Amino acid sequence: MTLDLARFPRATLGVWPTPLQDAPRLGEVAGAAVLLKRDDVNPLGAAGNKLRKLEFLLGAAVAEGADTVVTFGAVQTNHGRQTAAACARLGLRCELVLTAKVPRAGAAYDTSGNVLLDHLFSARVHVCRDAGETAAAYERVRAEAEADGRRLATIPVGGSDSVGSLGYVAAAVELAGQLADRGVDAARVLVPMGSGGTAAGLAVGFAALGVAHRVDVGCVGMPADETAAEVTRLAGETARLLGVDAPPPEHIRYDDTVFGPGYGVPTERGWAALRTFGRTEGVVLEPVYTGKAAASLLDGRYGGEDVVFVHTGGMPGLFAYAPEAVDALA
Ligand SMILES: *Cc1c(COP(=O)(O)O)cnc(C)c1O
Repeated sequence: MTLDLARFPRATLGVWPTPLQDAPRLGEVAGAAVLLKRDDVNPLGAAGNKLRKLEFLLGAAVAEGADTVVTFGAVQTNHGRQTAAACARLGLRCELVLTAKVPRAGAAYDTSGNVLLDHLFSARVHVCRDAGETAAAYERVRAEAEADGRRLATIPVGGSDSVGSLGYVAAAVELAGQLADRGVDAARVLVPMGSGGTAAGLAVGFAALGVAHRVDVGCVGMPADETAAEVTRLAGETARLLGVDAPPPEHIRYDDTVFGPGYGVPTERGWAALRTFGRTEGVVLEPVYTGKAAASLLDGRYGGEDVVFVHTGGMPGLFAYAPEAVDALA
């Protein structure tokens, strides 16, 4: 089976490869050989995992002649912020249709973190209270583009469709190469799952390469059964687009003990993971995605194994949780 990513249009947004770092002090706490895949480190727009997806999504949009991009998310969406930065760099107009679906409000949540950066990157931000308002805002953006004769590209929540997931197929190739250089041939690769493209792309990539690395998913957006259904569906679509076999379902494991009361609602285990990463490695996690996934790393399940924690970014979102973060961390 060959993995031919070169036939897909791609916009260069990141500097690759991202670092793969030893984390010996963290590994001591986790009881495993821990490596950090630093997808939180890149020059554009405060970085994060969406840059990899946006390389293919915006590559396709530009190839199709789009001049305006619309995407969706929660108020503190990291995906929206990275889309805004990427659009700035590519000279595209960016419309962010955001839905207030996380039970948080106040100055920090509503105006700091990603929201502040959305404005800095000159996106037009539409904040909606519910699904009805969100649909209406999208319709307005679409009608306005049509009336102006602009060509609109619509990117799904989290950039997770088969095209976006190609970014993490490319990441699987990159990471497999870095692990081979270190002589690691069977790693557990732990990622948070929000919309699924990161987990699905990595699983498709590892299976197509025929390597023994396996994907572990920390469920941060929904329970394990729904997460598995979504990742399986997306992996199937991505494999079909690439013309390779879908990864066997047993190649992916799911942990939803870290999920807590809901998407975007911090947990004590998540805060503990933030403290541990900060104290041992000087690495910043946040309470929505990486903190919860990291809680899975720290519950003792990886006795002696090689584990890669994929740091998917999201630091701006941490500031949206002040002052509760200060209370939790102090
Ligand atoms: C979007 C996001 C995720 C989830 O990735 P998906 O591909 O949507 O599952 C994880 N971490 C951070 C920081 C994110 O912004």
